[in-house]
Amino acid sequence: LFLAAGTAFATWTSGDRSDSIKRAIDDGSAKNIILFIGDGMGESEITVARNYSLGAAGKFPGIDAPTFTGDATTFAVQEADPSKPDYVTDSAASGTAWATGVKTSNNRVSTTPKTDLDVKTILELAQGKGWATGNVSTAEITDATPAVLSSHVRLRGCQGPADMATCPQDVKPAGPGSIAEQTVDHHVDVVLGGGKQRYDQKITGGPDAGKSVIESAERQGYKVVTNRADLLAYRGSKLLLGLFTAGNMTTEWNGALASPYPGSGPQRCNEANRPANEPTLAEMTRVAIDRLDDSNGRGWSWKKKRHESDGFFLQVEGASIDKQDHAQNPCAQIGETVAFDEAVQVGLAYAARHKDTLVIVTADHGHTSQIIEPQSATDHSPGAISTLVTADGVNMVVNYATNLNGRSQSHTGTQIRVAAQGPQAANVLGLVDQTDLFRLMKRAMGAS
Ligand SMILES: [Zn+2]
Repeated sequence: LFLAAGTAFATWTSGDRSDSIKRAIDDGSAKNIILFIGDGMGESEITVARNYSLGAAGKFPGIDAPTFTGDATTFAVQEADPSKPDYVTDSAASGTAWATGVKTSNNRVSTTPKTDLDVKTILELAQGKGWATGNVSTAEITDATPAVLSSHVRLRGCQGPADMATCPQDVKPAGPGSIAEQTVDHHVDVVLGGGKQRYDQKITGGPDAGKSVIESAERQGYKVVTNRADLLAYRGSKLLLGLFTAGNMTTEWNGALASPYPGSGPQRCNEANRPANEPTLAEMTRVAIDRLDDSNGRGWSWKKKRHESDGFFLQVEGASIDKQDHAQNPCAQIGETVAFDEAVQVGLAYAARHKDTLVIVTADHGHTSQIIEPQSATDHSPGAISTLVTADGVNMVVNYATNLNGRSQSHTGTQIRVAAQGPQAANVLGLVDQTDLFRLMKRAMGAS
């Protein structure tokens, strides 16, 4: 471990480091912004994954690497009285906070609490600057976190044209349509994730009435790909929509669910759960950056034709850290955290070659999993537990006890980590609120 640390130190030049710190503290502007959201990735989820995959003294080369770290509060507000906090946020209200700088109530997607007004998102500001934009997730790409960037709806469940019963005011042609329709209509340059079922639904109003959202996307200039090979092979100049599964994408790892005492395990995880036709989060991140960057020597001229600026904004979500925490599945949760770290590494490698890139690595809210003491018949958690054999060769007990065994485990209201590097990154130091991330990105972007 000391050797590893020494190696990292040896590759750091002091000039590089002081330069990056100066830029991070000054009112530096960014040419590119890459925002990584580990959904439900509280400090506990990071530690669980690090202990298991690297050992207690390990360090994630992605998640743990950025120079500056602080904490962000995550609370939402109440729909009936937005002057009062809702201590436990969901991904929609949290996403609205970091994407727009406005606190809203749970289940809302970039709309104001109570008054239901649309609020401008950081992706829309980026488009206003002439930047290229991308949105990547392992969830349905219409799920709350990616949705907050390029759609505005009353309720997060309004994902496809057939899901609009609870959002009548948003239905086309009077409204802007479902999350899937709005994402396509926003002409986001690269959109990659799961959720093809939403895009297969038929549009009910407007110029594309009767068409599926995929057909509407194709009419509006998208190339649609549905498997890993086609994603990696595509070199054309169209907007790119990748929909790799009907629902959420498959988790990288799997294993036994946590269960009441004595719990599952001791177990090691199955690390080969993802089918070969689905890309990894790191692969989707690499494709997105490759397409959004115009200095990569690939000779694509599409971006210059389409955009006034050479900048880009990209959001990458590791969605199923959250979903597998809900499901009390420690192996799947850890595997998604490790996969998220690999995606962050792709972003950091790009930023190492493009110093004017602001990289933010954070979560949207805390979650259930806790590392607890070895359990006994007399003293044990009333919840669900699993014992994992870590990279240290030591047993680690992970506890899920924010709901009854087998019910969806709950988000928590804790503050979460924000890590950042690049222009404006020093503004994450100390205690901030998620809405500050919007203002930080906006400043870095130089948007008015
Ligand atoms: Zn959740």
